[in-house]
Amino acid sequence: MEDFAWQRATSTEEAAAASTHTTAEAMVTLTGTPGDAQATLVKAGGVDLLDLMKEGLVRPACLIDISRLPDLSGIEIRPDGSVRLGALTTLGDIAAHAGLRRSHTALVEAAAQAASPQIRNRATLGGNLLQRPRCWYFRSAAHHCLRKGGAHCFAFRGDNRYHAVFANNGCAIVHASTPATALLALGAEVELADSAGHRRRVALEDFFVLPEADMRRENILAIGELLTAVWLPPLPPSSRTRYLQVAERAAFDWPLAAAAALLDIDAAGICRAARIVLGAAAPAPWRAHQAEALLVGTRISSDTAAAAGEAALTGATPLSQNSYKLPLLATLVRRAVAGAAALPAYPGAP
Ligand SMILES: Cc1cc2nc3c(=O)[nH]c(=O)nc-3n(C[C@H](O)[C@H](O)[C@H](O)COP(=O)(O)OP(=O)(O)OC[C@H]3O[C@@H](n4cnc5c(N)ncnc54)[C@H](O)[C@@H]3O)c2cc1C
Ligand code: SF4
Repeated sequence: MEDFAWQRATSTEEAAAASTHTTAEAMVTLTGTPGDAQATLVKAGGVDLLDLMKEGLVRPACLIDISRLPDLSGIEIRPDGSVRLGALTTLGDIAAHAGLRRSHTALVEAAAQAASPQIRNRATLGGNLLQRPRCWYFRSAAHHCLRKGGAHCFAFRGDNRYHAVFANNGCAIVHASTPATALLALGAEVELADSAGHRRRVALEDFFVLPEADMRRENILAIGELLTAVWLPPLPPSSRTRYLQVAERAAFDWPLAAAAALLDIDAAGICRAARIVLGAAAPAPWRAHQAEALLVGTRISSDTAAAAGEAALTGATPLSQNSYKLPLLATLVRRAVAGAAALPAYPGAP
């Protein structure tokens, strides 16, 4: 790893003003040499950023440490049932939060299954949503692929067993964030702040970018912007949520496939609304709209849950080595739907 300067930010505005590049921009180069050496980059827990630096994939001149900014911390459940998760909230804080487990079960289940306990205690939610993809060609300094400014995707003819089965034309990464799958099902928004103190809120669904829109980044974070919080809208009383995943090892691994379900079921047992999201399936968490449409207006049974699982595969385009993901995803959707329906209704705001 090369030498770099270190600056501890004392305010959100100061950190936003100091950052000269997003990590994605600093990693893009036309020559294949590691990223922009003039960059000042934001560091939260440092789990992903330091990894990229140690691999020689980015070589910033300076890191601006935001890990002690008080207004980016904390989990706050508001009287109306909405939730503000500060960007510095760790995955461990989320996994251990009893109130969130009752109200937003899927998010707690996702955070608890991400990485290992040590990493969850360091990894922040903001950094987790902004971590770069795990594609092993992308993570190899020897492979100057499309996402880093090169001319080829090595995964299409190479080893693509962990890659995307949806929206995989051009670049076939899967989004690396486990909590993002649950957050999308819960209708989350991210809060972004600039150096002048302006804040904007963007639906998580609009925050992520597919390769067809921009091959070189996974989100719309702009230069000089900080992710300050994640907001969860109040859930309707009678809603239930679940998150399930399959990984090669239950601890420590990113999932091979994942599914999150949010169901709103009325007193007569009829599904009023459904959000079904697939993880480790596409370059961004993937809404399974056909599965959602199939569930709305029906009584959830093992048959409708299984039909939703099959419907969730609509439009899949598996690559040469990853069609095994399709039955995994169908099964996870079936179990997440059946599992959510079996939970007691969330009683609503405290
Ligand atoms: C062995 C291992 C297993 C793992 N397994 C999983 C898993 O199963 N699921 C999963 O989801 N993750 C997994 N991870 C990834 C880990 O969760 C992320 O690397 C971590 O969450 C990143 O958070 P951080 O705070 O350390 O971010 P950092 O490394 O500090 O930052 C990550 C990126 O975000 C930017 N950034 C950070 N915070 C902000 C902010 N507030 N505003 C603007 N930019 C910001 C940084 O510039 C950088 O580009 C694993 C990691 C390891 C090492
Ligand atoms: S899938 Fe994307 S990140 Fe991986 S090699 Fe292809 S272009 Fe690069």
